[in-house]
Amino acid sequence: MEGRYRKFVRDLPQTIFYCPSCKGRKGGCERCDGYGKLTKDSVQEILARKILPMYKARRGKFHGAGREDVDVRMLGGGRPFVFEILKPRNLEVDEEALLDAIHDYGAGRIQVTKLVPVPRRRVAELKETHSDKIYRVLVSLEKGSLEKGSLEKGSLEKGSLEKGSLERGSQENGVMENGVPENGVPENRVPEAEALEEGLSAETVSEEMRADGREPSQGDLLEGEVWERARALVGQHWEVLQRTPHRVAHRRADKERRRRVEILDVGRCDEYLEVEIRCQHGTYVKEWISGDRGRSSPSLGELLACPTTCLALDVLDILGPFPELDRGEAPSFEDELSWPLPTDLSADPWILDSISEISRRAPEQG
Ligand SMILES: [Zn+2]
Repeated sequence: MEGRYRKFVRDLPQTIFYCPSCKGRKGGCERCDGYGKLTKDSVQEILARKILPMYKARRGKFHGAGREDVDVRMLGGGRPFVFEILKPRNLEVDEEALLDAIHDYGAGRIQVTKLVPVPRRRVAELKETHSDKIYRVLVSLEKGSLEKGSLEKGSLEKGSLEKGSLERGSQENGVMENGVPENGVPENRVPEAEALEEGLSAETVSEEMRADGREPSQGDLLEGEVWERARALVGQHWEVLQRTPHRVAHRRADKERRRRVEILDVGRCDEYLEVEIRCQHGTYVKEWISGDRGRSSPSLGELLACPTTCLALDVLDILGPFPELDRGEAPSFEDELSWPLPTDLSADPWILDSISEISRRAPEQG
């Protein structure tokens, strides 16, 4: 069965999160308190607990079209998946009742489209589709200077940021030419730009403070030249050279890849910067924000001439295009998600409080 899921929380992995210490063996270990896994639930398990009993099946497999980290929300149009039901003994399933059951059980955590039957080869089709993605990132601006090495590599000088000036090489992916989808940029984030154009001379705020011997706070940075630079980056794109991230370099070959990153919009959330980007498949987004000690360049930090780190990340769209189905239409959500989400979370639209211990211990699965 094919569907799409949305994930609204930051402590839910896509698939069963086996304990890395005991690999999920029966009885577990100390690290997982005997459970064999690090989270109670996953998207896969929420679905399985409702789907399998209704189909009278004992086993199911979850195949996602890619995956997001446990602490990354999956919003927008959701992520395609195939849930494979092995040896179902009942095929007379009430679709509505099944969806209701999933949504009751996963309320506030996940949402799924209707599920449609697909042939087995659909799993490979979904997995082989290399999609551009749109992300919204909450970025923390750090005081001080960029780590040594990252600035020199990025050829960043004031005035060098004309559109596309940092782009190198050719575009491998023709999909990119289509530009931004209509739903890619929310409308509610422009007023700050007008304030700037009206002559709010932000440039001087942090410079004056430094002259006074005070260190600018994060909020001051965002009032000042950093914000102006951020606004100037909207609509630009870069070919980013990314070495295998430092965090996984111990278990993966150190390779280089080039990925296209485009800044679609910038905004502010309290003292933090919000950046909406479109990335080619396989872009290391968190590393593009931080620069990963010079391993990812040009990074957002280089472009802003200010050290930056990724506080939180949401996937807003997976652009595909996924191949069509032979029969019928691939399932999709009928409603559009608004931002902030229409929940009681509006006081903290990024639900930063809920970034769990688990995600800090194991920031990357898979
Ligand atoms: Zn364990």
